[in-house]
Amino acid sequence: MTATQPRSLLQALHCSQCGQEQSAFIRQTLSACCRMPLLSRYDLAPDRFRPADLLARPATMWRYWEVLPVLDPQHQVSLGEGFTPLLTLDRLASLTGLERVTLKDEGLNPTGSFKARGLSMAISKAKENGEQACIIPTAGNAGVAMAAYCARAGLEAVVVMPRHTPDSFKDECRFYNARLIEVDGLINDCAAEVQTLNRDGRYFDVSTLKEPYRLEGKKTMGYEIAEQLNWQLPDVILYPTGGGTGLVGIWKAFREMQALGWLAPNQALPRLVAVQSDQCCPVVATYRGLQPNSKHYEGRPTLANGLAVPRPIGEPLILAALRESKGTALAVSENALLAGTRALARHEGLFVAPEGGALWAALLQLKEQGWIQPHEHVLLLNTGSGQKYMDNLTV
Ligand SMILES: *Cc1c(COP(=O)(O)O)cnc(C)c1O
Ligand SMILES: [Zn+2]
Repeated sequence: MTATQPRSLLQALHCSQCGQEQSAFIRQTLSACCRMPLLSRYDLAPDRFRPADLLARPATMWRYWEVLPVLDPQHQVSLGEGFTPLLTLDRLASLTGLERVTLKDEGLNPTGSFKARGLSMAISKAKENGEQACIIPTAGNAGVAMAAYCARAGLEAVVVMPRHTPDSFKDECRFYNARLIEVDGLINDCAAEVQTLNRDGRYFDVSTLKEPYRLEGKKTMGYEIAEQLNWQLPDVILYPTGGGTGLVGIWKAFREMQALGWLAPNQALPRLVAVQSDQCCPVVATYRGLQPNSKHYEGRPTLANGLAVPRPIGEPLILAALRESKGTALAVSENALLAGTRALARHEGLFVAPEGGALWAALLQLKEQGWIQPHEHVLLLNTGSGQKYMDNLTV
């Protein structure tokens, strides 16, 4: 970083279910009390960290150092992730009768998705905690990102991925010298295989929200959205939701910025929308009251691999973010998400992952229903590049 290295304001972790505090300065996985995700808490008194501090910082997610959990800069494992462009979609806006649509393009991150943020942070902390080997169950992008950051950190990597995932994801993991294990089923089946492989605790398990710090990497999207819009937030954010770390992280960032005094006190926060595929939409089902929770939800594969998460452990946190933000959840069909992927390519020159294409389909639905008004500023959070999905896509 810069000549005068700032200090992380990390204070403690707390259980997302019961609030019990746990140390942020030892290796942690799920909370000891409830076996639920742990959240990082910082000393956020106003003036501890100011927007002006950002001016001379690098254009990566690491510019928010004070509100990130890495303590010693020597442990930072970075490939330049974050500070992705925020693009205005004028052509698509006028096609749908909306005044202002923007898209944050996370496809430009190292390894082609926003998973780079979470895994850069998690692997940096793994290094800080002296881990030697990491393991991850993944729908695709998270495994690729973990393999890359482990290679960069000199750590051993094991990636467990559904067999039906396009080859490009698997081959890229192998390039990074990760051990790749293929499983018949979805990410929850991969998670079961990780449990078996890791019975002796030889590996550090980097599963979504089973360690505290991928969330801290992904939350930087929230800080960036605010900074890139000069601290004026959009009205609505559409987010393709799988495990939910990004959605929960963005909401956490907004709350932290309120505590830091970075947002005007009367400024409304964006309504968050969880977009899923109708092949696997546990959050939509729970949000609509069709099931008490997704503990027994059965999902099917979708072309948008990242959305095929049938039983997200972070579901309570996802639902809280949707409710607190007065947002909503909806599912789109495979045809609709493919049409959205094509529309973004054809009209805007953006080759997005099908997860990002789903956002376009969701926007059309919400506009049609009147849930989004023509004058509102809508931000689409495109989570990945279409490049690796070629096997799944046709023009
Ligand atoms: C993982 C992934 C998602 C889902 O992200 P969560 O933060 O886990 O909800 C969406 N899109 C892409 C491209 C992904 O790789
Ligand atoms: Zn607890």
